[in-house]
Amino acid sequence: MKRLLLELVLVLGLGASGYFGWTQWNTVKATTGQVKTLTDEAETTKTKVEEAEKAQTEQAETIKTLQPKAQQFDAAQGALADGQILDDLEKLYAKQKGLSSERQLGLGVIRLLTKGAPDSASIEALNKALEQVDWKNKQKIICAAQNALAAAGQDVKVLAECNTPPPLSAPGAPAAPAAAPEGKEPDAKKDKSGHGKQAAHWEYEGSLGPENWGKDFPTCAKGKAQAPLNITGPFERVQTTLAVDYKAGALSLLNNGHTIQVQGGPDSKLRVDSKPYPLVQFHFHRPSEEQIDGKPMAMTIHFVHKNDAGELMVLGVLIKEGNENPGIKTLWDNMPEKEGSVMAPDGVRFNPANLLPRERDFWSYEGSLTTPPCSEKVRFFILKTPINMSREQIAQFPFKLNARPVQPLNGRTIQTN
Ligand SMILES: [Zn+2]
Repeated sequence: MKRLLLELVLVLGLGASGYFGWTQWNTVKATTGQVKTLTDEAETTKTKVEEAEKAQTEQAETIKTLQPKAQQFDAAQGALADGQILDDLEKLYAKQKGLSSERQLGLGVIRLLTKGAPDSASIEALNKALEQVDWKNKQKIICAAQNALAAAGQDVKVLAECNTPPPLSAPGAPAAPAAAPEGKEPDAKKDKSGHGKQAAHWEYEGSLGPENWGKDFPTCAKGKAQAPLNITGPFERVQTTLAVDYKAGALSLLNNGHTIQVQGGPDSKLRVDSKPYPLVQFHFHRPSEEQIDGKPMAMTIHFVHKNDAGELMVLGVLIKEGNENPGIKTLWDNMPEKEGSVMAPDGVRFNPANLLPRERDFWSYEGSLTTPPCSEKVRFFILKTPINMSREQIAQFPFKLNARPVQPLNGRTIQTN
């Protein structure tokens, strides 16, 4: 019975991988469809093992059998949150030689759900899933694992076939049948498919606006080192050195419903005191989230970097109204207009260095993600010199307001070089 429960949680855990959105909501959207299909496949695989003679179950039937089980997932969630499921699953799997790629993937996902953040063991489990997979026949697993690793900020070359997110099931449909971050979301409603809990949604205005993010994402309200900040003196002088080493790569842009996000590449790095941090992605806010002496700028770009240890470094580039920016023109010419859509035009390469000012003087502070789940331990470097963008280019950005208000300093010092 326990084993059955574990298998059940494993299969549903796959469906719950929408959770990966702790950093990248958009990747969740791309991954959810893949993982949902994968969930069906995992169930089919289990059936095959248990009843070797049986022909492959029709997908529709599989979904039908999954639905009642999905409801039991709620019951298992408490156990998931306190780590018991993970313990049991790891004990069960420790006795088995060579886990299937589905199980490795499931283990990685359950680890992530339990730990609330990527740790080396979940990354290892996801990587193992990739190593073992039969590359010809298991593209869904490859895509799900690669997207999950990429969402966790790992250096992963996601296959081109995995880049296009599946169409959303309906406009305004829940983005992911996901468990809440930190596994606590007692009031979340069931989505129509009955697949467990729906991911908490958030906006920049109204009842789902920043003042209420804390209801679904506790760190947004309770965190003591939140970002953005109002940048104002006195500043503490530091010797930190910053070196930007960005390279041109294939252009891929995504409209995730909150911003336009451009995929980074493993070759582009930020070096902080010579230590490299690969560029994961960069995105835009309007107006700038950071304020300078109480005033926002027209826009800001956040270049998000993450190393293997999961340390996050954000390089902020402020934008003021001025001349047309040729780098921005390339991006806006390829802007995906529909939420959830990706543009990866053939043969178009882009170097993020085109969006940097020449001067590299900075302010720096310890902060957080400025979108839910507002996780902390994110170091910000805000370049003092803004870049230009024309009034038309600013107007073309499809999000009128996507800036979180400035947050209390709570005793932090803002540094400068
Ligand atoms: Zn940002």
